[in-house]
Amino acid sequence: MLVFSFCPDAYYIMEVVELMRSVLLELIHGMQQWEEEWFIMAKVLVVDDAAFMRLMVRNILEDAGHEVVSEAVDGSDAIEKYRRFRPELVIMDITMPVMEGVEAVGKICNAYHNAKIIMCSAMGQRDMVVDSLKAGAIDFVVKPIQNNRLLEAVDRAMFR
Ligand SMILES: [Mg+2]
Repeated sequence: MLVFSFCPDAYYIMEVVELMRSVLLELIHGMQQWEEEWFIMAKVLVVDDAAFMRLMVRNILEDAGHEVVSEAVDGSDAIEKYRRFRPELVIMDITMPVMEGVEAVGKICNAYHNAKIIMCSAMGQRDMVVDSLKAGAIDFVVKPIQNNRLLEAVDRAMFR
């Protein structure tokens, strides 16, 4: 800003503006690189009995650069798909037909000790969330799912 004190003409003002612009661009570029360096792509299995929920979760994950390796429609399907696809991460609904999420979590975590499972719970399912965490789930997000909440949970899980 010293420039302004002795020579406040338009040329110098433009030069300062240009300098500030390039510093800003440099900063933004640095931040983008930092984000890229710290991003870990997750291979995810999405488990939910509702097709629209699976699609929604898939879209959130894929838009953020993660990969959905498979989908499952209930707990026993989840176990089967886990065995086949060995995902790095599972997003698991709690209430499903055939086998509920809590039971599936217990079975997957017993068989695969490094399994990472994030529960997807609705309001009023606190007890089942607690049971899932006891069974080996590492985190939970509450429906309706917010993009950033889900992605934060995924990032946290991948850094464990
Ligand atoms: Mg459900």
